Amino acid sequence: MLTLHCPYCGVDADETDLHAGGEAHLTRFGPGASDDDFEGYLFTRKNPKGVHFERWRHAYGCGKWFLAARCTATLEVFATYSAQTVAPPADVRAAITAKRPDWSWGDLS
Ligand SMILES: [Zn+2]
Repeated sequence: MLTLHCPYCGVDADETDLHAGGEAHLTRFGPGASDDDFEGYLFTRKNPKGVHFERWRHAYGCGKWFLAARCTATLEVFATYSAQTVAPPADVRAAITAKRPDWSWGDLS
């Protein structure tokens, strides 16, 4: 079972106490964006086997949204952090790089 640490209330919550909110760190496009950019924002999502950044809500706890960096293959959690973060913080990047030195940051670099 997946267990995530809520960065707001400090509880280690099982996945039954959480609600998944999809991919984190999406680039949002405004009214002047092209149709392709807006379509990509609405419909295109990553589905990696390995490191992934996700939005989660502590639904049966404090109710707040937060972000998690985890491995989808092993359920290893690298970090959880504030949902008001536009990119993975330096300490999260360091934790991932220490455990997955060959992983590519791709469009998050
Ligand atoms: Zn919480």
